[in-house]
Amino acid sequence: MATNEETFAFQAEIAQLMSLIINTFYSNKEIFLRELISNSSDALDKIRYQALTEPSELDTGKELYIKITPNKADKVLTIMDTGVGMTKADLVNNLGTIAKSGTKAFMEALTAGADISMIGQFGVGFYSAFLIADRVVVTSKHNDDDCHQWESSAGGSFLIRQFNDPELTRGTKIELHLKEDQTEYLEERRIKEIVKKHSQFIGYPIKLVVEKEREKEVSDDEAEDKDEAKKEEEKEGDIEAADDAESKVDKKKKKITEKYHEDEELNKAKPIWTRNPEDISNEEYAEFYKSTTNDWEEHLAVKHFAVEGQLEFRALLFVPQRAPFDLFQDKKKKNSIKLYVRRVFIMENCDELMPEYLNFVTGVVDSEDLPLNISREMLQQSKILKVIRKNLVKKCMELFDEIAEDKDQFKKFYENFSKNIKLGIHEDSTNRKKLSDYLRFHTSLSSGEMCSLKDYVSRMKENQNSIYFIVGESKEAVTNSAFTERVTKRGFEVIYMVDPIDEYVVQQLKEYDGKKLVSVTKEGLELPESEEEKKKFEEDKVKYEKLCKVIKDILDKKVQKVSVSNRLTSSPCCIVTSEYGWSANMERIMKAQALSTSSTMGYMASKKNLEINPDHSIMKNLLTRIESDQDDKTAKDLIVLLFETALLTSGFSLEEPQLHASRIYRMIKLGLDISDEDEEQQQVDQPTGVTAIKVEGSDEDASRMEEVD
Ligand code: ADP
Repeated sequence: MATNEETFAFQAEIAQLMSLIINTFYSNKEIFLRELISNSSDALDKIRYQALTEPSELDTGKELYIKITPNKADKVLTIMDTGVGMTKADLVNNLGTIAKSGTKAFMEALTAGADISMIGQFGVGFYSAFLIADRVVVTSKHNDDDCHQWESSAGGSFLIRQFNDPELTRGTKIELHLKEDQTEYLEERRIKEIVKKHSQFIGYPIKLVVEKEREKEVSDDEAEDKDEAKKEEEKEGDIEAADDAESKVDKKKKKITEKYHEDEELNKAKPIWTRNPEDISNEEYAEFYKSTTNDWEEHLAVKHFAVEGQLEFRALLFVPQRAPFDLFQDKKKKNSIKLYVRRVFIMENCDELMPEYLNFVTGVVDSEDLPLNISREMLQQSKILKVIRKNLVKKCMELFDEIAEDKDQFKKFYENFSKNIKLGIHEDSTNRKKLSDYLRFHTSLSSGEMCSLKDYVSRMKENQNSIYFIVGESKEAVTNSAFTERVTKRGFEVIYMVDPIDEYVVQQLKEYDGKKLVSVTKEGLELPESEEEKKKFEEDKVKYEKLCKVIKDILDKKVQKVSVSNRLTSSPCCIVTSEYGWSANMERIMKAQALSTSSTMGYMASKKNLEINPDHSIMKNLLTRIESDQDDKTAKDLIVLLFETALLTSGFSLEEPQLHASRIYRMIKLGLDISDEDEEQQQVDQPTGVTAIKVEGSDEDASRMEEVD
């Protein structure tokens, strides 16, 4: 009874995904059932939630369940739910015309060797129906619309039609017309096995329509009627209802065997979190975790606990093995904690239950105290929820401690969730200290393995009071930096912070275990010194006072201050930033962020101080030159070049790289004995612009070379 049939084209990426699903050789096809049951369960969650504030939503059916019906004759498997259903627009949008970010991400993951069973994590689980069906018909009834039907045999398009299904007062029915070689999914035994394996923890009854036989006594007359009916059926080739007309119990009664259908509930187990943790095996936790999160791997760690007293709740928290593909994609990714009130599911992703930085922890919270008809708005105000949240965060810390007991486990955890821990240090002042125990860094002493701040402190020298760190773009860059040099030469360990988020960590984490965290690139770095070293430093300051002044005059506003350094050994100079401005690394990060306007760049941009190395031959030479001739032109040129080079080695970028380049080219020409006259001659000789190199130099060039040396 189809009216108004319309054809729609699948969005290109979805069409591509479908043909991948259909054409990829893949044996673990059974996961389709898990995906469709999971969608039904979500739809049931939605109507249940709506009914909390609008009970009349359930007027179209109070019983919430999922029903699986195998039809062997037609080779059709039907999955039906009494969930929220879909309007016509939902059918068009959700099942084919609007691609989610997961569509592309999933195809990329597949190309990179991912498994099709991961489909649910990418939010495109519905299309797994095409693993086993060559035609799929979805009939759906939403309270706000008439009943509509979606139908597709893949091939780039689907149909939508208005269609009244009397059985469907609200909800969705998915009919899978199975491929010839996939009829195993009509077998009761097989369906039960899959549901037990993947969906036993679904919170709504999953009913399977099973075929049963029973004996029935009928009177002779009835039996004769049946006999008549049977003969009729046999004529049509149907021998379903076999009777035992031969065994006559008495003259009037006959026994016949009849087949009938019955609903069998497949998931009768109590919710796992209400059971005693001691009776639950890790396999059961893993099954529960996988069936509720769509993850294909088991969890990394689990915490199951009950809180009693003024407030009562039970919770089950899981840390996954990996970060989901979109953990930091949305600005505010919701957490994955499901909230229940006295075993009744209330809602998913409840913001108030977990701070943002713990959004990778998944699980269940079941409260005894909240009212059943609580709305999202009420939740925001709820004191009960605040207490629950505090407890959950505390339990998460305990869970991380447990993970940290196993080095390999923790390594895996840290690789995936270090950003979350660092975000936590920035945001959660209450737990900052606790969280800082989980930090791991490479240092100047760690070879390959990362170490904790606790390890660092245990290795500190007797005269060392501070924890030294350097922030930068990469491990290589900071290892070879001039700042690291002086500190490590003295035998102190330097922590390498090379994750962009580390800048935000050190903004908040001022100390650890009573030891100040000190950046080796910031002004005022004081290293423990001997009396002799202090004396030499004071003398150097006096000795180089004039050179410092000349350099400051030449560089003018480019630097705030020029001073003698006690932190350098092999570099002639370096640029340090003032204690409160941005570090070079932060300046790089901020410049890369589109949101930084030039005005914030102005006042926050690093205040640069140039520090010179009094023991370096270049500085010694410059000092002699300046003392004999204040206006030494070459010296001035070289000072600018030194400054620009120091900017680069200290991690800054150049404002005018061309100017720096032309200075370098001048130096190269000097090194190669090319005079300016030669150059002009070249340009006349070689109109193509190719510069030939002249090897022999004039006397004048030779003398200029000496100046550079
Ligand atoms: P996901 O369920 O991860 O969002 P799917 O591809 O499995 O992705 O489903 C796409 C969308 O179709 C769902 O988000 C939901 O809106 C809708 N949908 C699928 N199955 C059902 C169902 N049984 N009842 C209601 N809506 C459904």
